[in-house]
Amino acid sequence: MSLPAPNPWIAAITPYEPGRARLASGRTPIKLSANENPHGPSPAAIAMIRAHAHGIHRYPDGAATSLRAKIGFVHALEPDRIVCGTGSDELLQLLPLIYCRRGDSVVHVRHGFMVYPIAARRAGAEPIAAPDRDYVADVDSILAAVRADTRIVFLANPNNPTGTMISRAEVRRLHAGLRSDIILVIDQAYAEYCDAPDPDGGLELARTMPNVVVTRTFSKIYGLGGLRVGWATGPAAIVAELNRVRAPFPIASVSLAAAEAALADQEWVARCREANARERARLVAAIEALAPQGLGAVPSAANFVLMTCPETGPLAAETLKAGFEADGILVRHLPKQGLPHGLRITVGTAEENDQAIASLRRQAG
Ligand code: PMP
Repeated sequence: MSLPAPNPWIAAITPYEPGRARLASGRTPIKLSANENPHGPSPAAIAMIRAHAHGIHRYPDGAATSLRAKIGFVHALEPDRIVCGTGSDELLQLLPLIYCRRGDSVVHVRHGFMVYPIAARRAGAEPIAAPDRDYVADVDSILAAVRADTRIVFLANPNNPTGTMISRAEVRRLHAGLRSDIILVIDQAYAEYCDAPDPDGGLELARTMPNVVVTRTFSKIYGLGGLRVGWATGPAAIVAELNRVRAPFPIASVSLAAAEAALADQEWVARCREANARERARLVAAIEALAPQGLGAVPSAANFVLMTCPETGPLAAETLKAGFEADGILVRHLPKQGLPHGLRITVGTAEENDQAIASLRRQAG
C-alpha cells in the first residue's frame, strides 16, 4: 500500500520553534523568550478591539485599504505600494514561492531569523547561510555566497537573534553588489526600536529601487503579536505579485482596527522605545559586570540581547537557562541556530529585568 508522501523539499523543513511560553511548574512566567513588547499595545488599540467586537460577523477588508493609507501617511509611502499580511511572516514566506524555481537559492545570514530557510525550502529553493563576523552581517560574505541561481537575499536589520545592525552605507553597498534580478528583502521587524524612522535606509531603497522590499510588523514595538499584522513595501511589480498570491482575507477585522489605533499612538511607541533603550542598557551592564566569569553581551539595536556564555560551569548557556527557569524566567537558547553558547534575553519591564538581573547574579554566585 502506498501512502501520501510530502514533497521531499517540504519534508526537509525543520519546523519553526516559537519562544517558550510556559514553565514546567505551571507558574506564570516572566516571558523574555519571544521579543514581545512587555508593555503591550497602546491602550487605544485595546479600546478599539473592544469597540470592534460587534462587527465580527462581517469579513474584513482583505486589501487592508484603511490601514495601508495610515501606514503610507506615517512612513511617507504610497499606499498602493504597501501590502499587508498575516504577520510579516506571511509576506516573507510568499516571496520565495513567487520568485524561486525548484533548485534556486536564497541567501541569508548565519545566526539569522529561522523563517528564511523555512521560506526557501517551502518553495523548493536551497537556503544558503552566509557567515557573519562577530555576530554582525558581513556584506562581503553575503555577496560571496550569491550564486547564479540566487533569487532572494534576506537581511534582518536589526538582526534576530543577534540584535546587531549594519549601517545605511553597508546596506547600500550590499544592494549595489547584487544583480538587479535578485530581490533584497530588508526585514525591519525591530526598526522602531532605533531612533531614526528609517534607520538603515531600507524604506528609501524600497521606494526607489526595482528590487528592494522592506517588511515591518505590528508584533514587536506595537505590542500586537497575538493579532498577526505585518506589511511590506517595494516596487509596484513585486507588490502586485504579493497581492496575487496572498490570502484573500489575511488580517482579521479586529486586528486591522487595532493596528490602525496602535499606529496612531506614536507617543506610546516613543515611550516604549525609550524604556527599551534604558532597560537594555541596564541589562547589558549587568551582563558585562560578569565578564570576568565569561559572560558577554552582543551589542544590540533591538529589544533583546544575545548573551554569550562560557562553555562550562554554572554560567554555561544550558545551565543558566535552567537556573532562569527555576526563578520563573523564560529566555531563549538557540543551539539549532549555531548558538549553543548563547542565550537571547528579551528586554522586559523594569520589574522583570530586576528579577532577571537578580537571577543572573544569584547564579553567578
Ligand atoms: N522578522 C524577524 C527578524 C522577527 O524576529 C520576527 C518575529 N519573530 C518576524 C520577522 C515575524 O514577525 P511577525 O510575523 O509577527 O510579523
